[in-house]
Amino acid sequence: MRIRLVSRQHPDSERVPYSLPVLQLQAVLRAHEEELGFPIVVDRHQLAREQHPARALRSLTDEAPDVVALYLDGDDWLALAPIVEAMVSLLPELTVIVGGPATRGRELELLQRHPFIEVVLCDEVEVALFETIAGLHKRKSFPQYRFHDVLGIAVRNEAGEPELTLERPAVEPLDLLPSPLSGFAEPLITLGSTAVYETHRGCRFHCTLCNYGGSFKRRRGFSLERVEADIAAIDAAGCTELTLTDALFNDDPKRTLELVQLFNGSRTLQRFYANLRADRVTDELHRAFDAKIWSFLCGIFSTRAETLESLKREMDLDVARTNIERLIAAGHQVTLQIVAALPREGWPDLARSLDWAISISGARVRLLPLRIVPGTEMELHHEGLGLIRGPRSWRSPTLATPDLPQAEMLRLLGIERLLRWLERDPLSAGPLRGELARHFDSVAEALSQFLGHLETAGVECIVGSFESGSGTRALEVNELVLRDELQRFSASVAG
Ligand code: SF4
Repeated sequence: MRIRLVSRQHPDSERVPYSLPVLQLQAVLRAHEEELGFPIVVDRHQLAREQHPARALRSLTDEAPDVVALYLDGDDWLALAPIVEAMVSLLPELTVIVGGPATRGRELELLQRHPFIEVVLCDEVEVALFETIAGLHKRKSFPQYRFHDVLGIAVRNEAGEPELTLERPAVEPLDLLPSPLSGFAEPLITLGSTAVYETHRGCRFHCTLCNYGGSFKRRRGFSLERVEADIAAIDAAGCTELTLTDALFNDDPKRTLELVQLFNGSRTLQRFYANLRADRVTDELHRAFDAKIWSFLCGIFSTRAETLESLKREMDLDVARTNIERLIAAGHQVTLQIVAALPREGWPDLARSLDWAISISGARVRLLPLRIVPGTEMELHHEGLGLIRGPRSWRSPTLATPDLPQAEMLRLLGIERLLRWLERDPLSAGPLRGELARHFDSVAEALSQFLGHLETAGVECIVGSFESGSGTRALEVNELVLRDELQRFSASVAG
C-alpha cells in the first residue's frame, strides 16, 4: 500500500526545513510496519504555500498513492480542499485521511461537507493513523468493516452519517512514539545545519485565537534520556542550529533548566530558536541560556488587560519586560509578537501595544497578521521604529489603501482574507475573479459596495470572531458564508 503523508510548508520555512508532525507520523508507521502484516511504502510531501494548484496536483498524484494523509494547520484546508477533490477525481480509489490542529472540533463537519474524505483523525493522530491504515487493509476482505475499533477518529456509519468513535487516550508516556532521529538504523531525515525538534507536546494556555492549545489533552514531555539520545544523533549529523517547536518552551522552569543543560552539552549545536514565556524566566535559567546563543519569540499579543483576559492569555507585563531586557543585555535575540485585529481592539489599542514593545530597546517587533500598508499610520510606526514584516510567505496583497481609515482597514481584514483565498484558489474561483476584474474599477470601490451589500444582507464582518473559541474555524466558516455572498453579489452586478 502506498501512503503519501502531506503537509504545507511552515510559514517560517526558511528556518523550519521539514514538517515535524509528518515525520512523526512516518516514524510510527515505519516502527510498526511488521505488525501491519502487509508491505507499505510511505513518502512525504511538503507543499509550498504559494505552489500553483496544478503543480501541487501533479506532485501529489505522481505514482498514484492508495492513501493520502494530510496534516492540516491554520487555514491550509481552504487551499488544499479543491486540490484533494481533484486528486480523487483522478484517482477514484484513493483514500483521503485528514488530521491536525485545524480539524479539531470540526471532524463531523468536514465529513459532511466533503464526501471525498474517508476518515478524520482526532487529537493525537500518530497511532490512530497506523490503526486506520490497518483497518483499510481489513476492509479489503470485509467491505462492511467501518473502523469502529479504531479509537479517536471520525468516520461514516452504515447509514452514511458521520460519527465519532470512542475517544483515544493521550499517548502516555510520550516516549512510546518512536523518534524520527534516533532509534532507527537510518534516521528518517538527513539534517542540514538546522534540526527541528519537539521536547514537549501541548500548551497550558488555551488562547481563543489558537487551535494548538486545545489540540492536546494535557501537556507532556519526552524523557530526558530520549532527548539525550536525539541530541547525540543531531551532534552526529553536525547540526549547528536547533529550532524547538514547543508552544512555550519554558512553561515549566525546572524541566526547562534540565533541557537547557542537556543542550549545553551538545558538541555542535550553537544556536537555538524557541517560543518563550517572557514572564517565566528564573535566574538559573537566565544563566543556563547564556552558554549558547538563543533567539526567542515572545507572544505578547496585546498590552490591553481586557484583551489578554478574553484571549485567556494573561501575562505579568512588568516581569516580562525585566526578563526581556536581561536576555537582550546578555546578547540573545528577542522578537516580540503583537497581534492586530484582536477582539474589540481598534488602532489606538494596537498602537499602545506596539509602543510598549518598541520601547524595549533592542527587541524586534513582529506584527501579525496584517501586512503593513503603505501610507498608513501603521507604516509610520514601521518606518520610524523598525517593525519587522512577517516572513515572506505571509506577505500577500492587502486591499486597504491610504485613503481608508485605519479602523476600517482592520475591519476589512476578514474580506482581505477571503479575497486572498479566492486568489489562491483558481480551481474554484477562476470565473469569479474574472467577474471581479471586469466589474470593479478599483479595489476600494469594490469593497465599499461589497460591505454595503453585506450590511444590507445582515452578514457580520469577520474581525472579532476570534472570540468564538476557535479562531481559525470561525474565520473559515465566515469565509465560506462570505464567498456565497460574494458570488451572489457578483452575479447580481453581472446581471
Ligand atoms: S497561542 Fe501559543 S500560548 Fe496560546 S494556546 Fe496557542 S500555542 Fe498556546
